[in-house]
Amino acid sequence: MSSTNSNTVVAEQQKLLTEITPARQIKRIRDYQQISIYKDVNPLDWEDWHWQLKNRIRNKEELSQIIKLTPEEEKGVDKAKGRLSMAITPYWAALLDPEDPECPIRRQAVPVEAESLISPHEMTDPCAEDRDSPAPHLVHRYPDRVLLLATDHCAMYCRHCTRRRLVGEHEQKEESGAQRFDAAVEYIKSNRKIRDVLISGGDPLILEDEELENLIQKIRAISHVEFLRLGTRVPVTLPQRVTEKLVNMLKKYSPLWISIHFNHSKEITKRCKIACDMLSDAGIPLGSQTVLLKGINDRPYIMKRLVHELLQIRVRPYYIYQCDPVRGTQHFRTPVAAGINIMEKLRGHTSGYAVPTYVIDGPGGGGKIPVGPNYILSQAKGKYVLRNFKGKIYTYLE
Ligand SMILES: *Cc1c(COP(=O)(O)O)cnc(C)c1O
Repeated sequence: MSSTNSNTVVAEQQKLLTEITPARQIKRIRDYQQISIYKDVNPLDWEDWHWQLKNRIRNKEELSQIIKLTPEEEKGVDKAKGRLSMAITPYWAALLDPEDPECPIRRQAVPVEAESLISPHEMTDPCAEDRDSPAPHLVHRYPDRVLLLATDHCAMYCRHCTRRRLVGEHEQKEESGAQRFDAAVEYIKSNRKIRDVLISGGDPLILEDEELENLIQKIRAISHVEFLRLGTRVPVTLPQRVTEKLVNMLKKYSPLWISIHFNHSKEITKRCKIACDMLSDAGIPLGSQTVLLKGINDRPYIMKRLVHELLQIRVRPYYIYQCDPVRGTQHFRTPVAAGINIMEKLRGHTSGYAVPTYVIDGPGGGGKIPVGPNYILSQAKGKYVLRNFKGKIYTYLE
């Protein structure tokens, strides 16, 4: 990034910060310069996504300068080596509560010892994605759409990651170069039923603009593909990645939709809002995907706050996922009843736009199965007995 370019970006962002942010709604983040290890960091570096990636927190020594580690966390960090090792962007690190190990931001990023406990029903690949893969990097489960895993890296590694079998910083270097998606692109090309391609990963926005554009262009060139989607967490974990250059590139490939992984309203900072605004202003519709996580967002009032704040930053709540039975995530998993209870407290009680669909990804490759409260009490010939969100009973005659 040239320095003039960075200067305009920073100036633009400062303008946005003062002008349009409803301060009442959007939380301020701890000023990074108040954190001792970042006190001398130049704001232009802080705004540079490559700097953020290069300076991720990777070990206990660095992390202990930011938060007061518990013994469980210390052991967790020591054990999280290799696949899904710890990596925390300085941006995300600045959001951690230094004192509270239950901080939702902290629990998603800092490994704990419980990750090494594997319970009997947990699996390496719970959604059987590898089985449904007709070409490298491609998962084809539903008739008209495919999932393309564009990279096995992320800005930050979420401790509840469902693709932990693939994702992380590891010795085996991922092949690079444009040709690694050739077989996947050929498969999509030769299957005329595929009208929707979801590019996820890892995180596709970790790719350099040129590499991402190359891939998008190839898929766009297929006439039967009606629209593209990206699945990312970058606006939340590394909002600096959403540069004007990236947005201008993505804009060319409309219709392109983006799903963003949000789990807690604390993630909706001013800086995150700027990234989402840039995407929305470029005509990219935004949705959210949330994983139901014990102690993080499993209470109805927490989830309600999240979905309300998402609508305020123009992100439409799309899915809440039951936490997949992936190895080492028992400490994050809630009963299904917790999810159903959340749905019960949302539908009817708040804007329909704020109500996502709660789904369980059928273990073994069943795909997303919606679950929720039951509103049909009985059904007979020509007659439905229904209850509404208040529990009042109504009869609908056909
Ligand atoms: C989630 C998913 C999709 C997209 O599903 P939608 O319900 O259309 O968002 C596609 N393929 C796979 C394998 C998936 O897991």
